[in-house]
Amino acid sequence: MRVIQLLALGIFAAALEAQTPLDTGVTLIHAGRVFDSEHGTFLTARDILVRRGMIDSVAEHIAAPAGARVVDLSRYSVLPGLIDSHTHLLYLESPAGELTTQGASAVIVEGTPLRALHGAARARTFLAAGITTVRDLGNSGHFGDMALRDAIRDGSVDGPRMVAAGPGLSPEGGQFPGLQSGYRAIAEEEYRIVRGPQDAALGVRENVTYGADVIKIYSNNTPNKGSLSVDEMRAIVDEARRLHVKVTAHATSDEAVWRAATAGVDGIEHAYQVADSTLALMKQKGIVMVPTDLDSATVLRYAMRSQGKFTATPAQVATFLNGQRDRLRRALKIGVTIAAGSDNYLDMGMPQGEAAKHNLLAYSEAGMPNLSVLQAATWNASRLLGLDNRIGIVKAHAFADIIAVEGDPATDIHALERVRFVMKQGAVYVNKSSVVRD
Ligand SMILES: [Zn+2]
Repeated sequence: MRVIQLLALGIFAAALEAQTPLDTGVTLIHAGRVFDSEHGTFLTARDILVRRGMIDSVAEHIAAPAGARVVDLSRYSVLPGLIDSHTHLLYLESPAGELTTQGASAVIVEGTPLRALHGAARARTFLAAGITTVRDLGNSGHFGDMALRDAIRDGSVDGPRMVAAGPGLSPEGGQFPGLQSGYRAIAEEEYRIVRGPQDAALGVRENVTYGADVIKIYSNNTPNKGSLSVDEMRAIVDEARRLHVKVTAHATSDEAVWRAATAGVDGIEHAYQVADSTLALMKQKGIVMVPTDLDSATVLRYAMRSQGKFTATPAQVATFLNGQRDRLRRALKIGVTIAAGSDNYLDMGMPQGEAAKHNLLAYSEAGMPNLSVLQAATWNASRLLGLDNRIGIVKAHAFADIIAVEGDPATDIHALERVRFVMKQGAVYVNKSSVVRD
């Protein structure tokens, strides 16, 4: 058993490292300042040597090896590539549309193959925005996320590295409120509907067999009224542990968060109405929170694009934002680890990757220190994804996922909107810097 397990881990590591386009050249980067994601500080000027897609060394001065490409980022703040821990690359929803109609249309009209291709176009925008890894949490039809992940990995498609969930394990009906019972099969194309603890464990086995890197569950399936039982979620967690994958739970109400935390999940998505006592339970169990928050600009834009479906009076906007910010501040105060995740599946009339980054602006607006925001999108997220010291860090032996922004994000979070350089695994996708030698 031991041998087989080690072999399997070896294959996983090899698959990650065999990703193409693998830039086998040598690049020396002169960085003006570098974000130390582990300690949440900026270091002064550093040189970063990249070989075969990996960071070879980081030091105050490195002599350029013969034949190296030299990139001058001395005017910029250099960071590890950002990580978005909650995406849905294969689903896009209009704020003006209706949830179930659009969700069903994705299943029965758009279909999985076309969704994967549309996802590929969205994936490029994440990379361009400086997001070099995403954890994609379902709404991908019939394992369409696996196809996109693998196409990015083998170099057929430009996009962020994907950690993908496959269909989310959900109570009856998924997130399609109002779907007539005769058409429940439509929800079963988009979600893995769970019926009892044994079936829940089987769902985990199915997803892992067909390629899931992580298990997404719905502790409650808002806006439907269902919830998974603690026993079902325990069965899921047990099976996932056996198969060496993590479990993260969509949970919006306090009760849904509490039940998922009690069952022992690794992460909680949203947690909009979470109580302090439940946050304390999360802290005690080391459960990470992914607050999929909207910044003020996004709320206004959402209302504007909803064509009258949602109104946003200043008082309504303030109430919504205050609630969201208050619970993030409470989570921080209690000491819950925060990983950044946008949940941006909305058509905001701008590139998806740019829209997703507004999530980081939301944390900053809530009063989270900017350096902590940067850690949430790098160090903390890398640990949640189980890729500690591989991504989210500029350090020897990590993947060469490196971005540069103009300005100082420690004092101005909007600097993240001024991306000037993006490298993923040694390959350069955006370069508005001056290349000294090529
Ligand atoms: Zn989501």
